Amino acid sequence: MKVYPTLREIQADLLTGKQTVSGMVEQYLSHIDSTNDLNIYVEVYADEARQKAAELDQKINTAPDSLGKLFGMVTSIKDVICQEGHGVTAASKILEGFTSLYSATAVERMLAEDVIIIGRTNCDQFAMGSTNENSVYGPTLNAADPEKVPGGSSGGAAVSVQADTCLTALGSDTGGSVRQPAAFCGVLGFKPTYGRISRYGLLAYASSFDQIGILGRNIEDIACLLEVMAGEDKMDSTSSRRAVDNYEDFLKNNFNKKVKIAYFDTAVEHKSIDADIRQQTLNFIDQLKADGHTVEAVDFAYLDYIIPAYYVLTTAEASSNLSRYDGIRYGYRHPDAKSLQETYEKSRTEGFSKEVKRRIMLGTFVLSAGYYDAYYAKAQKVRRLIQDKTLEILDEYDFILMPTSPSPAFDLGEKTSDPVEMYLADIYTVQANMAGIPAINIPLGTHQNGMPVGIQLMAKHFKEADLLAYANYVLKNII
Ligand code: GLN
Repeated sequence: MKVYPTLREIQADLLTGKQTVSGMVEQYLSHIDSTNDLNIYVEVYADEARQKAAELDQKINTAPDSLGKLFGMVTSIKDVICQEGHGVTAASKILEGFTSLYSATAVERMLAEDVIIIGRTNCDQFAMGSTNENSVYGPTLNAADPEKVPGGSSGGAAVSVQADTCLTALGSDTGGSVRQPAAFCGVLGFKPTYGRISRYGLLAYASSFDQIGILGRNIEDIACLLEVMAGEDKMDSTSSRRAVDNYEDFLKNNFNKKVKIAYFDTAVEHKSIDADIRQQTLNFIDQLKADGHTVEAVDFAYLDYIIPAYYVLTTAEASSNLSRYDGIRYGYRHPDAKSLQETYEKSRTEGFSKEVKRRIMLGTFVLSAGYYDAYYAKAQKVRRLIQDKTLEILDEYDFILMPTSPSPAFDLGEKTSDPVEMYLADIYTVQANMAGIPAINIPLGTHQNGMPVGIQLMAKHFKEADLLAYANYVLKNII
């Protein structure tokens, strides 16, 4: 793999004057200009980034001790994460012209450590989708081949890293939206345990699944960003009170344990898996075994129930979460509605995309009195079974290994006509969200067709330190 300098290496160069923050920001901005056709950003904060860079260069010269942990890190944020005084639209017309009144806790914590946010990135509307085509701004294109989608919903985030327009990116992952685009674009994509990073200031899609995730080039950068953002937040009652590990230090103790990894035959032999991805996954398993790790196939009978249960539960939560966009309180209001009822109807009809409306309707249906038991309550039970079985496996094994996606990046337009086809492509990523466990996409190689292929590892709740350390080991010694 190509080796990218880590934030700490960048910082060393900044402190010895080999590089300046302003120089780096100019370089990123010029990459943003030259990749304009990929439609990565909804808005670029060029002036602000330049100003902050100048301030940091000054601080490096005059008061290096006062520098925050993330100085020199340039990041992008997905257009579902709030930053005070900046627009946020979830790639939807319904939030047209809306400006955040406060910052997400994750954003506030990064800014307090001197990160530079270079802009907000394109995504699927309200984070619903797997291709980034469902955006009011049009699709983001994959930098490896602009005829292909970057994956979704954090497609812009993935390409922002892939095209070197920033060092790291924040996305959100409800059912794979950080890991799947990372796999399609050949970068790292990490989703922490549910509750590890506060969701305050993240526009909600399905609150019991959503989690802010990180995309990047190096595990070290992900570890240090996680350490900054993670931890209890009074503004999010689902954020965990558990102490935050020193993820970065953990990486320094070279990982030299042999681990036990489970994988599912039902996943590797699934009818939907691409032959080359299957082969690369099996080869990777052989390499792990040759390196002394135990990798075993275990039974997991629920794989085909994951997607139906996920789409029942997430659409139910979405139908409730999105009821706040009523044409009155935020963003877009239809200009010629004649009554309150008409304002609701016309604003929502025009403001939401077809896919968002489909999900609101499906969610409303599964929650309706006549169908609640048959669908919603049933899907909750399925979620519990999947959680229990997943945790039972993780009691015996350190990690679960899965392909990240059954296929490499789709062609543009390939999945737009059949939403169910698109839903089914989430088969390998959703389990981690159902169970609330941490998971990471690691770039594995290149498909016969030239597109990136990823592999995924999942761990027990709050075992981020082990997961990141092992992923680092694998990247440095095996892939
Ligand atoms: N593709 C999945 C969906 O459309 C995942 C979305 C996400 O993780 N935000 O629901």
